[in-house]
Amino acid sequence: MFDVAVVGGGVIGLTSALRLQQAGARVVLVTAEPPGSTTSSVAAAVWYPTRTPGQPRVLDWATRTFDELARQAADGVPGVVMRPTRMLQRAEPPAVQWWTAAVPDVRRLGADEIRAPYTAGLAFTVPSVEMPRYLPWLQEQFTAAGGTLVLRRINRLDQATVWAPVVVNATGLGARALCGDSRLRPVRGQLLLVGNPGLHVSLRDEDDTDGYTYIHPRSTDVVLGGTFEDDRWDTVPCPDTARAILRRCTALLPELADAPVIGHRVGLRPHRSGGVRLEADPHVPDGATRLVHNYGHGGAGVTLAWGCADAATALALALGGDR
Ligand SMILES: Cc1cc2nc3c(=O)[nH]c(=O)nc-3n(C[C@H](O)[C@H](O)[C@H](O)COP(=O)(O)OP(=O)(O)OC[C@H]3O[C@@H](n4cnc5c(N)ncnc54)[C@H](O)[C@@H]3O)c2cc1C
Repeated sequence: MFDVAVVGGGVIGLTSALRLQQAGARVVLVTAEPPGSTTSSVAAAVWYPTRTPGQPRVLDWATRTFDELARQAADGVPGVVMRPTRMLQRAEPPAVQWWTAAVPDVRRLGADEIRAPYTAGLAFTVPSVEMPRYLPWLQEQFTAAGGTLVLRRINRLDQATVWAPVVVNATGLGARALCGDSRLRPVRGQLLLVGNPGLHVSLRDEDDTDGYTYIHPRSTDVVLGGTFEDDRWDTVPCPDTARAILRRCTALLPELADAPVIGHRVGLRPHRSGGVRLEADPHVPDGATRLVHNYGHGGAGVTLAWGCADAATALALALGGDR
Protein backbone atom coordinates (compact mmCIF):
# COMPACT_ATOMS: atom_id res chain seq x y z
CA MET A 1 0.00 0.00 0.00
CA PHE A 2 1.13 3.53 -0.81
CA ASP A 3 0.31 6.87 0.81
CA VAL A 4 -0.79 8.61 -2.40
CA ALA A 5 -1.86 7.42 -5.86
CA VAL A 6 -1.21 10.00 -8.56
CA VAL A 7 -3.33 9.24 -11.63
CA GLY A 8 -1.74 10.60 -14.83
CA GLY A 9 1.77 10.30 -16.21
CA GLY A 10 2.12 13.62 -18.03
CA VAL A 11 4.13 16.56 -16.74
CA ILE A 12 1.47 17.41 -14.14
CA GLY A 13 1.32 13.88 -12.70
CA LEU A 14 5.09 13.37 -12.71
CA THR A 15 5.91 16.69 -11.02
CA SER A 16 3.14 16.12 -8.44
CA ALA A 17 4.48 12.64 -7.73
CA LEU A 18 8.03 13.93 -7.27
CA ARG A 19 6.99 16.72 -4.92
CA LEU A 20 4.95 14.24 -2.85
CA GLN A 21 7.97 11.96 -2.58
CA GLN A 22 10.15 14.89 -1.53
CA ALA A 23 7.59 15.55 1.24
CA GLY A 24 8.04 11.96 2.45
CA ALA A 25 5.04 10.20 0.87
CA ARG A 26 5.17 6.72 -0.74
CA VAL A 27 3.72 7.28 -4.18
CA VAL A 28 2.30 5.09 -6.94
CA LEU A 29 1.73 6.67 -10.36
CA VAL A 30 -1.11 5.13 -12.35
CA THR A 31 -1.31 6.09 -16.00
CA ALA A 32 -3.17 4.89 -19.08
CA GLU A 33 -0.28 5.89 -21.36
CA PRO A 34 3.45 5.94 -20.68
CA PRO A 35 4.84 9.48 -20.23
CA GLY A 36 6.36 9.45 -23.73
CA SER A 37 2.91 9.06 -25.31
CA THR A 38 1.11 11.89 -23.49
CA THR A 39 0.14 15.39 -24.63
CA SER A 40 3.03 16.57 -22.46
CA SER A 41 5.47 14.77 -24.76
CA VAL A 42 4.23 16.85 -27.74
CA ALA A 43 4.50 20.25 -26.04
CA ALA A 44 6.78 22.93 -27.44
CA ALA A 45 7.42 23.27 -23.72
CA VAL A 46 8.71 26.77 -23.31
CA TRP A 47 7.87 28.66 -20.15
CA TYR A 48 5.05 30.91 -21.33
CA PRO A 49 1.46 30.96 -20.03
CA THR A 50 -0.24 30.87 -23.42
CA ARG A 51 -3.85 32.02 -23.34
CA THR A 52 -3.93 31.79 -19.56
CA PRO A 53 -5.63 34.55 -17.56
CA GLY A 54 -3.28 36.13 -15.02
CA GLN A 55 -5.04 35.39 -11.75
CA PRO A 56 -2.84 35.84 -8.63
CA ARG A 57 -2.63 32.08 -8.03
CA VAL A 58 -1.58 31.49 -11.65
CA LEU A 59 1.19 34.07 -11.35
CA ASP A 60 2.34 32.29 -8.18
CA TRP A 61 2.41 28.86 -9.91
CA ALA A 62 4.14 30.33 -12.96
CA THR A 63 6.77 32.08 -10.84
CA ARG A 64 7.52 28.97 -8.79
CA THR A 65 7.84 26.91 -11.97
CA PHE A 66 10.09 29.49 -13.60
CA ASP A 67 12.39 29.45 -10.56
CA GLU A 68 12.46 25.63 -10.38
CA LEU A 69 13.20 25.20 -14.09
CA ALA A 70 15.87 27.94 -13.96
CA ARG A 71 17.50 26.04 -11.09
CA GLN A 72 17.29 22.78 -13.06
CA ALA A 73 18.83 24.47 -16.12
CA ALA A 74 21.73 25.66 -13.95
CA ASP A 75 22.10 22.12 -12.55
CA GLY A 76 22.26 20.61 -16.06
CA VAL A 77 19.01 18.63 -15.90
CA PRO A 78 18.55 16.93 -19.33
CA GLY A 79 16.54 19.00 -21.79
CA VAL A 80 16.23 22.15 -19.68
CA VAL A 81 17.91 25.40 -20.79
CA MET A 82 17.33 29.13 -20.42
CA ARG A 83 16.34 30.43 -23.85
CA PRO A 84 16.62 34.04 -25.10
CA THR A 85 13.30 35.01 -26.67
CA ARG A 86 11.83 37.80 -28.77
CA MET A 87 8.13 38.49 -28.85
CA LEU A 88 7.23 40.61 -31.86
CA GLN A 89 4.12 42.75 -31.66
CA ARG A 90 1.93 44.45 -34.27
CA ALA A 91 -0.75 45.96 -32.04
CA GLU A 92 -0.52 49.61 -31.00
CA PRO A 93 -0.27 50.01 -28.08
CA PRO A 94 1.09 46.48 -27.40
CA ALA A 95 -0.91 44.36 -24.97
CA VAL A 96 0.16 44.45 -21.33
CA GLN A 97 1.71 41.07 -20.41
CA TRP A 98 0.86 40.08 -16.82
CA TRP A 99 3.42 37.25 -16.75
CA THR A 100 6.38 39.63 -17.07
CA ALA A 101 6.21 39.91 -13.25
CA ALA A 102 7.76 36.41 -13.12
CA VAL A 103 10.57 37.08 -15.62
CA PRO A 104 13.63 38.98 -14.37
CA ASP A 105 15.09 40.37 -17.59
CA VAL A 106 12.16 41.60 -19.71
CA ARG A 107 12.91 44.69 -21.80
CA ARG A 108 11.21 46.51 -24.69
CA LEU A 109 12.91 46.11 -28.05
CA GLY A 110 14.48 49.29 -29.40
CA ALA A 111 13.40 50.82 -32.72
CA ASP A 112 16.57 49.47 -34.36
CA GLU A 113 15.58 45.91 -33.38
CA ILE A 114 12.15 45.94 -35.06
CA ARG A 115 11.17 45.92 -38.71
CA ALA A 116 7.79 46.09 -40.48
CA PRO A 117 5.18 44.70 -40.03
CA TYR A 118 6.13 44.82 -36.36
CA THR A 119 5.74 47.97 -34.30
CA ALA A 120 7.01 46.84 -30.90
CA GLY A 121 8.40 43.84 -29.08
CA LEU A 122 9.84 42.34 -25.92
CA ALA A 123 13.12 40.53 -25.27
CA PHE A 124 13.40 38.15 -22.33
CA THR A 125 14.92 34.83 -21.22
CA VAL A 126 12.76 31.90 -20.11
CA PRO A 127 13.18 28.17 -19.41
CA SER A 128 12.75 25.94 -22.43
CA VAL A 129 12.31 22.19 -22.09
CA GLU A 130 12.83 19.32 -24.53
CA MET A 131 10.13 16.98 -23.35
CA PRO A 132 11.49 13.83 -25.06
CA ARG A 133 14.54 14.23 -22.80
CA TYR A 134 12.86 15.73 -19.72
CA LEU A 135 9.95 13.31 -19.24
CA PRO A 136 12.26 10.26 -19.03
CA TRP A 137 14.40 12.17 -16.52
CA LEU A 138 11.34 12.94 -14.37
CA GLN A 139 10.30 9.29 -14.54
CA GLU A 140 13.80 8.14 -13.55
CA GLN A 141 13.80 10.53 -10.57
CA PHE A 142 10.46 9.08 -9.51
CA THR A 143 11.53 5.44 -9.67
CA ALA A 144 14.96 6.15 -8.16
CA ALA A 145 13.14 7.61 -5.13
CA GLY A 146 11.18 4.34 -4.72
CA GLY A 147 8.11 5.23 -6.78
CA THR A 148 6.10 2.60 -8.66
CA LEU A 149 4.55 3.23 -12.08
CA VAL A 150 1.47 1.20 -13.03
CA LEU A 151 0.26 1.28 -16.64
CA ARG A 152 -3.51 1.07 -16.23
CA ARG A 153 -6.57 3.01 -17.43
CA ILE A 154 -9.13 3.52 -14.71
CA ASN A 155 -12.83 4.25 -15.28
CA ARG A 156 -13.55 5.92 -11.95
CA LEU A 157 -11.18 7.80 -9.66
CA ASP A 158 -12.18 5.76 -6.61
CA GLN A 159 -10.63 2.71 -8.33
CA ALA A 160 -7.27 4.24 -7.46
CA THR A 161 -7.94 3.64 -3.77
CA VAL A 162 -6.86 0.02 -4.22
CA TRP A 163 -3.34 1.50 -4.17
CA ALA A 164 -3.61 4.40 -1.71
CA PRO A 165 -6.13 6.25 0.47
CA VAL A 166 -5.34 9.64 -1.07
CA VAL A 167 -5.66 10.20 -4.83
CA VAL A 168 -4.28 13.05 -6.95
CA ASN A 169 -6.13 13.41 -10.23
CA ALA A 170 -3.66 14.61 -12.89
CA THR A 171 -5.39 13.11 -15.90
CA GLY A 172 -5.42 16.18 -18.15
CA LEU A 173 -8.16 15.85 -20.75
CA GLY A 174 -9.04 12.42 -19.29
CA ALA A 175 -10.70 14.26 -16.39
CA ARG A 176 -13.55 15.20 -18.73
CA ALA A 177 -14.84 11.63 -18.55
CA LEU A 178 -13.53 10.73 -15.09
CA CYS A 179 -15.12 13.79 -13.41
CA GLY A 180 -17.91 14.56 -15.88
CA ASP A 181 -16.30 17.99 -16.23
CA SER A 182 -17.88 19.56 -19.31
CA ARG A 183 -15.80 22.74 -18.78
CA LEU A 184 -12.81 20.74 -20.01
CA ARG A 185 -12.30 20.50 -23.76
CA PRO A 186 -9.51 19.92 -26.26
CA VAL A 187 -7.64 22.72 -27.95
CA ARG A 188 -5.78 20.98 -30.75
CA GLY A 189 -2.21 22.04 -31.42
CA GLN A 190 -0.18 21.06 -34.46
CA LEU A 191 3.51 21.73 -34.94
CA LEU A 192 6.46 20.79 -37.15
CA LEU A 193 9.98 19.81 -36.25
CA VAL A 194 12.73 20.93 -38.63
CA GLY A 195 16.51 20.65 -38.55
CA ASN A 196 18.21 23.45 -36.64
CA PRO A 197 20.20 25.69 -39.00
CA GLY A 198 22.07 27.19 -36.01
CA LEU A 199 19.30 29.12 -34.24
CA HIS A 200 19.34 29.74 -30.51
CA VAL A 201 16.77 32.55 -30.01
CA SER A 202 13.05 31.80 -29.74
CA LEU A 203 10.67 34.02 -31.72
CA ARG A 204 6.94 34.49 -31.27
CA ASP A 205 4.32 36.52 -33.11
CA GLU A 206 0.90 36.29 -31.49
CA ASP A 207 -0.61 39.10 -33.55
CA ASP A 208 -0.43 37.39 -36.97
CA THR A 209 -4.03 37.27 -38.19
CA ASP A 210 -3.21 34.11 -40.20
CA GLY A 211 -2.37 32.26 -36.97
CA TYR A 212 -0.27 32.23 -33.87
CA THR A 213 3.37 31.78 -34.95
CA TYR A 214 6.34 30.56 -32.95
CA ILE A 215 9.87 29.31 -33.59
CA HIS A 216 11.56 27.50 -30.70
CA PRO A 217 15.09 26.17 -31.28
CA ARG A 218 16.15 23.06 -29.37
CA SER A 219 19.46 21.17 -29.22
CA THR A 220 19.14 19.45 -32.60
CA ASP A 221 15.86 20.68 -34.10
CA VAL A 222 13.46 23.63 -34.14
CA VAL A 223 9.79 23.53 -33.12
CA LEU A 224 7.57 25.51 -35.52
CA GLY A 225 4.00 26.30 -34.57
CA GLY A 226 1.28 26.51 -34.18
CA THR A 227 -2.45 26.13 -33.97
CA PHE A 228 -5.18 26.56 -31.34
CA GLU A 229 -8.20 24.65 -32.64
CA ASP A 230 -11.06 24.56 -30.17
CA ASP A 231 -13.03 21.33 -29.68
CA ARG A 232 -11.07 19.31 -32.23
CA TRP A 233 -10.25 15.77 -31.12
CA ASP A 234 -8.35 14.42 -34.12
CA THR A 235 -4.62 13.91 -33.72
CA VAL A 236 -3.62 13.22 -37.32
CA PRO A 237 -1.34 15.99 -38.68
CA CYS A 238 -3.04 18.02 -41.42
CA PRO A 239 -0.70 18.68 -44.41
CA ASP A 240 -2.34 22.05 -45.27
CA THR A 241 -1.92 23.20 -41.68
CA ALA A 242 1.73 22.15 -41.73
CA ARG A 243 2.31 24.11 -44.96
CA ALA A 244 0.65 27.20 -43.45
CA ILE A 245 2.82 26.98 -40.31
CA LEU A 246 5.95 26.62 -42.41
CA ARG A 247 4.95 29.59 -44.58
CA ARG A 248 4.37 31.86 -41.55
CA CYS A 249 7.58 30.78 -39.82
CA THR A 250 9.65 31.23 -42.98
CA ALA A 251 8.22 34.72 -43.46
CA LEU A 252 9.35 35.50 -39.92
CA LEU A 253 12.76 33.88 -40.30
CA PRO A 254 13.85 33.21 -43.93
CA GLU A 255 16.80 31.02 -42.75
CA LEU A 256 14.22 28.29 -42.14
CA ALA A 257 13.43 27.93 -45.86
CA ASP A 258 16.06 25.22 -46.38
CA ALA A 259 15.68 23.45 -43.04
CA PRO A 260 14.70 19.79 -43.54
CA VAL A 261 11.34 18.76 -42.09
CA ILE A 262 11.95 16.06 -39.46
CA GLY A 263 8.43 15.38 -38.29
CA HIS A 264 4.90 16.52 -37.44
CA ARG A 265 3.21 16.45 -34.04
CA VAL A 266 -0.32 17.00 -32.79
CA GLY A 267 -1.51 17.26 -29.19
CA LEU A 268 -4.78 18.12 -27.45
CA ARG A 269 -4.34 20.81 -24.82
CA PRO A 270 -6.59 20.22 -21.78
CA HIS A 271 -8.29 23.62 -21.75
CA ARG A 272 -10.72 24.31 -18.93
CA SER A 273 -13.01 27.34 -18.96
CA GLY A 274 -12.56 29.06 -15.61
CA GLY A 275 -8.98 27.83 -15.37
CA VAL A 276 -7.04 24.98 -13.79
CA ARG A 277 -8.91 22.81 -11.32
CA LEU A 278 -6.58 22.54 -8.34
CA GLU A 279 -8.51 21.75 -5.17
CA ALA A 280 -9.43 19.02 -2.72
CA ASP A 281 -12.72 17.56 -3.93
CA PRO A 282 -15.50 18.54 -1.53
CA HIS A 283 -18.03 16.18 -3.17
CA VAL A 284 -16.47 12.73 -3.24
CA PRO A 285 -19.34 10.31 -3.97
CA ASP A 286 -18.28 7.36 -1.82
CA GLY A 287 -17.25 9.55 1.11
CA ALA A 288 -14.10 7.49 1.57
CA THR A 289 -11.84 8.64 -1.25
CA ARG A 290 -9.66 11.59 -0.39
CA LEU A 291 -9.16 13.32 -3.68
CA VAL A 292 -7.13 16.28 -4.97
CA HIS A 293 -7.67 17.54 -8.53
CA ASN A 294 -4.80 18.99 -10.56
CA TYR A 295 -5.93 19.23 -14.18
CA GLY A 296 -7.00 21.62 -16.94
CA HIS A 297 -3.71 23.42 -17.64
CA GLY A 298 -4.52 24.19 -21.28
CA GLY A 299 -1.53 25.56 -23.17
CA ALA A 300 0.51 26.18 -20.03
CA GLY A 301 1.07 22.83 -18.32
CA VAL A 302 4.84 22.99 -18.50
CA THR A 303 4.76 26.64 -17.37
CA LEU A 304 2.68 25.90 -14.27
CA ALA A 305 3.70 22.32 -13.43
CA TRP A 306 6.05 22.78 -10.47
CA GLY A 307 3.98 25.51 -8.83
CA CYS A 308 0.84 23.36 -9.16
CA ALA A 309 2.76 20.32 -7.87
CA ASP A 310 3.64 22.31 -4.71
CA ALA A 311 -0.01 23.27 -4.21
CA ALA A 312 -1.34 19.75 -4.92
CA THR A 313 1.20 18.28 -2.50
CA ALA A 314 0.11 20.61 0.29
CA LEU A 315 -3.54 19.66 -0.30
CA ALA A 316 -2.77 15.91 -0.41
CA LEU A 317 -0.72 16.07 2.80
CA ALA A 318 -3.53 17.95 4.51
CA LEU A 319 -5.81 15.00 3.61
CA GLY A 320 -3.39 12.62 5.30
CA GLY A 321 -1.28 11.65 2.31
CA ASP A 322 1.85 11.10 4.38
CA ARG A 323 2.84 8.38 6.76
C1 LIG B 1 1.29 21.62 -29.65
C2 LIG B 1 1.36 21.93 -28.18
C3 LIG B 1 2.31 22.83 -27.72
C4 LIG B 1 2.39 23.14 -26.35
N1 LIG B 1 3.34 24.00 -25.93
C5 LIG B 1 3.42 24.33 -24.62
C6 LIG B 1 4.41 25.23 -24.17
O1 LIG B 1 5.24 25.72 -24.94
N2 LIG B 1 4.45 25.53 -22.84
C7 LIG B 1 3.55 25.00 -21.95
O2 LIG B 1 3.62 25.32 -20.77
N3 LIG B 1 2.60 24.12 -22.36
C8 LIG B 1 2.51 23.79 -23.66
N4 LIG B 1 1.53 22.92 -24.10
C9 LIG B 1 0.52 22.47 -23.14
C10 LIG B 1 0.97 21.28 -22.35
O3 LIG B 1 1.40 20.26 -23.22
C11 LIG B 1 -0.17 20.77 -21.47
O4 LIG B 1 -0.69 21.80 -20.67
C12 LIG B 1 0.33 19.66 -20.55
O5 LIG B 1 0.97 18.66 -21.30
C13 LIG B 1 -0.78 19.05 -19.72
O6 LIG B 1 -0.18 18.06 -18.93
P1 LIG B 1 -1.04 16.97 -18.18
O7 LIG B 1 -0.06 16.14 -17.42
O8 LIG B 1 -2.16 17.62 -17.44
O9 LIG B 1 -1.75 16.12 -19.35
P2 LIG B 1 -1.22 14.93 -20.25
O10 LIG B 1 0.16 15.14 -20.68
O11 LIG B 1 -2.27 14.73 -21.28
O12 LIG B 1 -1.22 13.69 -19.27
C14 LIG B 1 -2.44 13.13 -18.81
C15 LIG B 1 -2.13 11.77 -18.24
O13 LIG B 1 -3.32 11.24 -17.66
C16 LIG B 1 -3.46 9.88 -18.10
N5 LIG B 1 -4.86 9.51 -18.07
C17 LIG B 1 -5.90 10.17 -18.65
N6 LIG B 1 -7.04 9.49 -18.40
C18 LIG B 1 -6.71 8.43 -17.64
C19 LIG B 1 -7.45 7.36 -17.06
N7 LIG B 1 -8.77 7.25 -17.22
N8 LIG B 1 -6.78 6.41 -16.34
C20 LIG B 1 -5.43 6.49 -16.17
N9 LIG B 1 -4.68 7.50 -16.70
C21 LIG B 1 -5.32 8.44 -17.41
C22 LIG B 1 -2.87 9.88 -19.49
O14 LIG B 1 -2.53 8.55 -19.90
C23 LIG B 1 -1.66 10.77 -19.28
O15 LIG B 1 -0.60 10.00 -18.73
C24 LIG B 1 1.46 22.56 -25.44
C25 LIG B 1 0.54 21.63 -25.90
C26 LIG B 1 0.48 21.31 -27.25
C27 LIG B 1 -0.52 20.30 -27.71
